[in-house]
Amino acid sequence: MTAPFRILPRITPANAHFWQGGAEGELRFLRCRACRTWIHPPSPRCPQCLAKDLAVEAVSGRGTVVSCTVNHKAWVPGEDEPYAIALVELPEQAGLRLMTNVVGCAPDRVRIGMAVRVRFEPHGEIHVPLFEPCD
Ligand SMILES: [Zn+2]
Repeated sequence: MTAPFRILPRITPANAHFWQGGAEGELRFLRCRACRTWIHPPSPRCPQCLAKDLAVEAVSGRGTVVSCTVNHKAWVPGEDEPYAIALVELPEQAGLRLMTNVVGCAPDRVRIGMAVRVRFEPHGEIHVPLFEPCD
């Protein structure tokens, strides 16, 4: 199966855990060892307590759609549309959210409050975290 067109990020030492964790089926974030805050996007310091002692940890991969829309325009050549764009909040921490796509269902089926789980779309060393309905 050919992966769909996608503009990919540049991997850096600061973000590799996030973009490459999917190779092992894990959605990974930085987490503060001092106050246990999950950190996204990656930062060299904890935004809550300013500690620099951060570790990479995996979350459950579950989430809830907190906002969504459907794109109907191909903004770049090769892009498949329509597709669902969603803001997904993870249960590990209020406000720990990803802007992502919901796949595995018709785009107009995506609703606020929908329970979703992560799945990864591989593009070489990059594994883009997307979400699909749990049901
Ligand atoms: Zn902290």
